[in-house]
Amino acid sequence: MARTKYIFVLGGVASSLGKGIISSSLAKLLQSRGFSVTIQKLDPYINVDPGTLNPYEHGECYVTEDGAETDLDLGHYERFSNVPTSQANNVTTGRIYQTVIEKERRGDYLGHTVQVIPHITDEIKRRIKLLGKTGKYDFVITEIGGTVGDIESLPYIESVRQLRWEMGRDCSVIHLTLVPYLAAAGELKTKPTQHSVKTLLESGVQPDIIVCRTEKHLNENLKNKIAKFCNVEPSSVIESIDAKSIYEVPILMRKENLDAEVLRKTMMPLDSQPDLRKWEDFLYKLAHPTTEVNVALVGKYVELKDAYKSISESFVHAGAANECKVNVKMIHAEKINDENAKSILKDFDGVLVAPGFGERGIEGKISAIRHVRENIIPFLGICLGMQCAVIEFARNKLGYKSAHSMEMNPDTKYPVIDLMEEQKKIKGMGGTMRLGAYPCKVKKNSIVFKCYQTINVSERHRHRYEFNNKYLSEFEKAGMKATGVNPKENLVEIVELEDHPWFVGVQFHPEYQSTVAKPHPIFVNFIKATIIHKRDA
Ligand code: GLN
Repeated sequence: MARTKYIFVLGGVASSLGKGIISSSLAKLLQSRGFSVTIQKLDPYINVDPGTLNPYEHGECYVTEDGAETDLDLGHYERFSNVPTSQANNVTTGRIYQTVIEKERRGDYLGHTVQVIPHITDEIKRRIKLLGKTGKYDFVITEIGGTVGDIESLPYIESVRQLRWEMGRDCSVIHLTLVPYLAAAGELKTKPTQHSVKTLLESGVQPDIIVCRTEKHLNENLKNKIAKFCNVEPSSVIESIDAKSIYEVPILMRKENLDAEVLRKTMMPLDSQPDLRKWEDFLYKLAHPTTEVNVALVGKYVELKDAYKSISESFVHAGAANECKVNVKMIHAEKINDENAKSILKDFDGVLVAPGFGERGIEGKISAIRHVRENIIPFLGICLGMQCAVIEFARNKLGYKSAHSMEMNPDTKYPVIDLMEEQKKIKGMGGTMRLGAYPCKVKKNSIVFKCYQTINVSERHRHRYEFNNKYLSEFEKAGMKATGVNPKENLVEIVELEDHPWFVGVQFHPEYQSTVAKPHPIFVNFIKATIIHKRDA
């Protein structure tokens, strides 16, 4: 294999322009030409990982197979490329400093002064090259979080500058900027892009390719103007127009030749053509649904569209697989109670109760579950959603009125959800949950077996509490069955109701494994159940 090529994606002008989607789309295009690609995100904040951040800060926390708690962009990387990411794919400033400080304490620096340059930048460069060194990838795409000009991004930009010198044509820099449309002037404006490139140049980095996020088409004149002011070739000015769906972006980037530009800049062979037939099939199904369903997502971050990102995207994948438009509506758990559940949930063909932590909204989630259990509406509970299903069943079926999770009520008489044994001695909060992929054995004769069509599966986790096995036989006798169990530790991973056509609670997070190429079977089957429910209602 030829030497690994390193592509950097830096953002300017504004945040939220979609660096993650551009990186993922480029990865998809290179992959569809037969190259192996991985994407990495470097985040300039000081938390060691985003596991300790609440969703108001950076949206959902994504979890990799090997148990890293990461930025949600890694979810996009996997959904687009269908290749698992790992601990090495997300690094924060906190992690970099932690490593350098640990080395200093060990005495590894032999009496030298430890400084941002070269010690911090060397550690950043080492982390960037780590994935390339595995020998598995033709391309490592590195997305740098934040916006050019931010103080905290400086060591990263300096590292990119040094790597460009060291690697020459094995390295290329893409700068994503905004070209705003000023309605009053009736014009697209290039000045913010020019300033952003100037700021990058002050740090010694000349971008090779400029991707311009815009709401209107850029004409040739405008592209030429940007090229001239920013020292790039006109063919390296790429338009990234607002798209209806993030999944259209690879096709748009293909039309703009982003992949070919990257290959040309890095002197890679250009003779292959991207094969995007499967991707286009998916887009066709997405755009031509034959049915439509409404699903309620009961959670506590209704105003944050990124808080349940992987769940919403899993519905997109599952919808396309069923040729069905899935309208997902967020319902605030705190607004639901036993009295109003019926009217709030009356227009929904299925209900998903979301993962989460802490007391807020718990009673509403439990009321929603009671409603779908008693009224035979398709239900999927994920992590805390599954735990709420267990609490609801204990309270209203087994008659243990004060049943609860030890997380919400450590004094409960009926701790049907209890702290995991391994968690009891843990004190710190960062990276200490049960994280990452664990095997699960699925029972035949269950809804989930119909989904998976196999008994041995592996799913990703992020939790401290678990079903309390002391109560298992009582639950099973009353009709709530454990249909998936961790074979080694005997932890209950899946619960189902015997007398309900589609009621599934999972302790793991199926949403982390749903991709365009492989929609998660539990989501696909759940949507199928909602279609049937709607038809028969
Ligand atoms: N708070 C619960 C636990 O720690 C559920 C976690 C989750 O939903 N991710 O077990």
